[in-house]
This record gives sequence, structure tokens and C-alpha cells, in this order.
Amino acid sequence: MRFRQVAWLLLLCQAVWAQSPRYLAVLCYHQIHPIAETEMVTTPKRFVQQMDYLQSHGYQSVSLHQAELFLAGKLPTKLVAKPVLITFDDGYDGVFRYAYPQLKKRKMKAVTFLVVSQVDRTQSTPHLTRAQVKEMAGSGVFEFGSHTYDMHVPIPERRAAGLTSAYAIEKDLTRSRVVLQGWLGKPVRSLAWPYGHYDESCLKLARRSGFSMIFTTDYGYNFPGSGLLRIRRIRLSSDFDTVEVLRSKLATGG
Ligand SMILES: [Zn+2]
Repeated sequence: MRFRQVAWLLLLCQAVWAQSPRYLAVLCYHQIHPIAETEMVTTPKRFVQQMDYLQSHGYQSVSLHQAELFLAGKLPTKLVAKPVLITFDDGYDGVFRYAYPQLKKRKMKAVTFLVVSQVDRTQSTPHLTRAQVKEMAGSGVFEFGSHTYDMHVPIPERRAAGLTSAYAIEKDLTRSRVVLQGWLGKPVRSLAWPYGHYDESCLKLARRSGFSMIFTTDYGYNFPGSGLLRIRRIRLSSDFDTVEVLRSKLATGG
């Protein structure tokens, strides 16, 4: 190959690289509430500041399907230059009250991972109701995944201690998926591990239970080709996560 051809090829590669979404940041929130009593709570004010930052810096919230395309290296660069997937664990009603209106107003998307048996429960920290889930899903703003049916515990440790079995785990995960599918009227394939705890055996059970897009709390970015079974997330649960912290976490991969 002649020098000029090599130079052109290098320039072309550089141009493609410059345009390519280099990573997918998956943000992990829990509760949104005006009173930040624990480190799992983000105040609505802080959440608004963070969404403002994402929008003003060219980040685009993507759907689960778009995230899947990105991880397969098939998300058109022109469509989404800086993809971000916004997720909430546990399914607290603060997500409906405070995050949903903000995301809807901004035409942003997000995912909530539900502990399915806790939907409609009104204990000290109220969870989402079926009616709220239906409204959020119908709006096109929210998608839903599983955070187990009724196993919101560190699963590998429980199994090692003999407090649960492979059979019980698979049964719980399958039940969560089937019930959610019944509510939503469409396939559910995504799962987030409680407390982010998992091992190889758990992964096998999750796959056998029908999940193909599995979220961890392992810190960092995701890249095309990095797969769907150990999706990394950047945690933003605490109200101490200011816009500056968000900027820094996005710049460094968590
Ligand atoms: Zn959780």
C-alpha cells in the first residue's frame, strides 16, 4: 500500500473513532425523595441538576434495546453520540413521584428494576403500585426489569450459607420474569442483581430463567463487545453525588 493510501486510511479511522460512541454509561439510582435520610436517596433537586447536566453535555438516554445494540456494536453513531442508560433499583414510589415527571418532560428514557413481590406494598418506604407501573410503561418513558420476585438479598452468600438453593433461585427469577411479562404484555429479559452480588453459578441460573441482559454494580463503562451478562453501572445513589461528582464519574468510568 502506498503512503498516501495509508494516510487516507488512518484519517478515515480517526474520523470514525472520533464519531463513535466509545462507551455506554449505565447510571444506577435507588430512591428519589426530598429527605435524603440514607445514602440510597437522591433528592429531586439533585436529580434535576444531574439530568440538566446530561442534557446540556450531549448525553442521550437510551432504551434497553438501544443499549443492547450498542453493546453489540450496532448502534448507529449518528443516532446516539453519547449514550447513557438511566436505571433505578428496588422500585420505590419516589421514582414515580419525582423522577418520572422530570424524565417525561425532557423526553428521556429510564429503566426500573422491580422486586416484583414488593409492588403495591406500602411499608415505611412505599414502593410503586401496579397502576403506577402501568402508567410509566405506557408513557414510553420507563421500561421495567427484574430485581427478583422476593429474593432481595445477597444471593450467592445466602446460597453458600445453605439458606437457599439453586432450585429456589431459579424459581424466584423465573416467577419475577413471568409476572412482569403478564403485567407489561411484552417480553422481559433484563435483571439487576440485589446488592450487585452474583457469581458464575447465579449467572447460569439467571440465563436458565430467561434473562439475557444482566446488570451488576461492578463499576465502570461498557464497550461494544463487552457483552450483556455483566453490565457495569455507575452508582449515583447518594445526595452527596453532586453534578461535579457526576461529571467526574462519567469522565473516569465510575
Ligand atoms: Zn436493591
